[in-house]
Amino acid sequence: MHEMGIAQNILDIAVAAAQKEGASRITRINLIAGELRGIEPIQLTFCFDIVAKDTLAGGAYLNIETVPVMGHCNDCQADFQIEDYAYVCPKCGSTKIEVTGGTELRLKDIEID
Ligand SMILES: [Zn+2]
Repeated sequence: MHEMGIAQNILDIAVAAAQKEGASRITRINLIAGELRGIEPIQLTFCFDIVAKDTLAGGAYLNIETVPVMGHCNDCQADFQIEDYAYVCPKCGSTKIEVTGGTELRLKDIEID
């Protein structure tokens, strides 16, 4: 399962950061997930709870902030949000679109005790 690997990654990063701070417990993890990552928040939370059990992050709340797909038009230089995978510039109709956002997956921050 794709989410299980992601959950393990998030956990490793969060636990390493918490240990650096000398924390005894992680209470909340804020994650940024681009829409193009195709992450199912419910699935990811489920997997996270499994891998986080018996670690510093056991019982931590996983907050997933989904960011939209953003595009840049190479013809008219417009920046816009891409919806429904329509890679067409809403301003000039060009298809010379560069995806500038929506592929990220990163830990924003963690809250510790
Ligand atoms: Zn354009």
